[in-house]
Amino acid sequence: MENTQNIKDNLMRVLSSIREAERLSGRKEGEVSLLAVSKFHSAEKVKEAIEAGQMYFGENRVQEAVTKFNEVRESYPNVHLHIIGTLQSNKIKKAVLLSNRIESADSIECLKGIEKHCALEKKLIEVLLEYHTGEESKAGFLHIEDMREALELSARGEVPHISIRGFMTMAPLTNDEALQRKSFAALREAKEVLEKEFPSMDLKVLSMGMSSDYRAAIMEGSTEVRIGTAIFGSREK
Ligand SMILES: *Cc1c(COP(=O)(O)O)cnc(C)c1O
Repeated sequence: MENTQNIKDNLMRVLSSIREAERLSGRKEGEVSLLAVSKFHSAEKVKEAIEAGQMYFGENRVQEAVTKFNEVRESYPNVHLHIIGTLQSNKIKKAVLLSNRIESADSIECLKGIEKHCALEKKLIEVLLEYHTGEESKAGFLHIEDMREALELSARGEVPHISIRGFMTMAPLTNDEALQRKSFAALREAKEVLEKEFPSMDLKVLSMGMSSDYRAAIMEGSTEVRIGTAIFGSREK
């Protein structure tokens, strides 16, 4: 793992490596966006990244994100925050208030909870459906049928404050690139199937790839990589 204090250099290195992976996989330049995952890192570090040009951040724990991003937004009100961790129902309200997008919707119940709080707050929010494609992670919809059900809910107008924009997954934690790619390919294939079934919806986003596997994810069609360690250095867990 990269282990330097210099967030700006790390960001530039990660961005150029993303651009290189785009080229190698025949993707268009700029097709893959970068979500900087700042969990376990301070508001100061987030501000450093913003000053280096990064405006999109991801956090997986709502409570931690509330404190941090309230502070960050005093100086940078336009910063974007995506929630990427499993959402307990008692955290949905805060997640809705705080974030621009929830990437980790993993059940019909969760979607209905998001809808309920968005309706109360009169807020529209973007959501990704998290798909379980790797053995290690427990999060995510287990079957494509379940995601289909979620999309039907949206297509019927039952979650009008939610705009489902695509899908997210975490690959198994392994150095075996073939296994990583299998997991990412499973998400891409699910997206391709569901996009055809719901042609009126815009389901383009494929959020997949982290510090250790984002090149493989880009090869499999990722449109957003979520990178923490390679930008902010290692964190204590
Ligand atoms: C922590 C986390 C990441 C970033 O992981 P790194 O290995 O630090 O790049 C990406 N996605 C999710 C859901 C995470 O929880």
